[in-house]
Amino acid sequence: MSILDKFKALQGAYDTVQSAGQDPFSVCFDEVLSPSEAVLKGQRVILLGTNNYLGLTFDRSCVDKAVDALMQAGTGTTGSRIANGTYGNHAELERRLAAFYGFRSAMVFSTGYQANLGILSTVAGRGDHILIDADSHASIYDGCRLGNAEVIRFRHNDPDDLARRLSRLKDQPGNRLIVVEGIYSMLGDTAPLKEIAAVKREWNAHLLVDEAHSLGVLGCNGRGLIEQAGVEEDVDFVVGTFSKSLGAVGGFCVSNLPDFDVLRIACRPYMFTASLPPSVIASVTQALTRVQEDPGLRARLNINAQRLYRGLEAEGFILGPQVSPIVSIRMPSTEVAIAFWNALLEAGIYLNLALPPATPDNAPLLRSSVSAAHSGTQIDTVIATITAIGRELGVVTQPARRPESAKRQSGLLGEVLWQGNHSQQGQGHGHRHDHVPVAGSTL
Ligand code: PMP
Repeated sequence: MSILDKFKALQGAYDTVQSAGQDPFSVCFDEVLSPSEAVLKGQRVILLGTNNYLGLTFDRSCVDKAVDALMQAGTGTTGSRIANGTYGNHAELERRLAAFYGFRSAMVFSTGYQANLGILSTVAGRGDHILIDADSHASIYDGCRLGNAEVIRFRHNDPDDLARRLSRLKDQPGNRLIVVEGIYSMLGDTAPLKEIAAVKREWNAHLLVDEAHSLGVLGCNGRGLIEQAGVEEDVDFVVGTFSKSLGAVGGFCVSNLPDFDVLRIACRPYMFTASLPPSVIASVTQALTRVQEDPGLRARLNINAQRLYRGLEAEGFILGPQVSPIVSIRMPSTEVAIAFWNALLEAGIYLNLALPPATPDNAPLLRSSVSAAHSGTQIDTVIATITAIGRELGVVTQPARRPESAKRQSGLLGEVLWQGNHSQQGQGHGHRHDHVPVAGSTL
């Protein structure tokens, strides 16, 4: 018996996916031409599944800063900051992040995943309680699993359910830490943060917001959902990543708590791994400058997201509950999702195939992420191609009646930066377990 026998069922499921066409989990581009185009097996494809929200991966100023740092400081730090020393520009980026948010302190991690792993496992200890949204990202679930706090899951985007669960803890000692995301990675919906902040205040809890998908995307200054919802003063920790709007790799946490820096000698996913190469830190620092100095990036992203969402909505596709740079199409079955994904790739469009159990409500999804770098023509090509394949596969039939929201589209463009509509949310996704030994989790 092999130690890997336990993966036989998983391998079987993987084989089924692969046998339907290309392997969606091992896509390997021959060449990446720009933030919105690549070559795959000799064919040009539109990149619609990269999280490159502001299109900064090829930004000239970011590339130049990275090249300068590479030449000056070499290819890597070859160790962790506590054991092997901090290269100057890490501390500078931390100062810049803290100043950007107007918070007291910032810590940079080697990935966004590790930022969640480190913060959640360290700040909430034995006897504390972490309350996480049921649709939380895998890194949040894993951060909980690494620590010793009790983990309680509340219904997705449901502040009442959160309050109920906090009320049940009222006679128990220990701190309470609420964890939500700015934009949820699978359906693109935002957290009802004003209401969650009110619950936090009522129950004297702490609040962590993971702004992985909303940094640089939401808020007048790009400070994410906490800025858009006007709750910055209620937030104790913001976790974010450099791998999406900032176009590189890495993660961070900012906080106003006075003793935050003690985590540098307590947080294992910070202490026991190598720090980011100076070139990455340099490009990220410049990307943050671009976010601050060029609101046009967010405006273009907004226009493109509206265009894709409204275009697909008008064709009758079932999408996430609100306009967002993450536009996900609900598929009737896993088989159709796989066939659809392959047909799109053949037609020159790359997006993400998201399959249960890593999706809310166990729904198979075709997930796209829009970029400020997409042209209007690319978005229109995407809508036309998805519609043609959707009709062929019977996912949509007749063109839907153009919804009111789409008729108002031109009035919305450029005016509204992702004002969430929570009226369609808060139903949760039917998760059955309250206290989690940690299952579920989205990609
Ligand atoms: N949090 C959320 C909500 C995410 O979606 C992701 C990545 N998809 C992460 C954290 C981890 O970020 P990274 O990939 O930069 O490690």
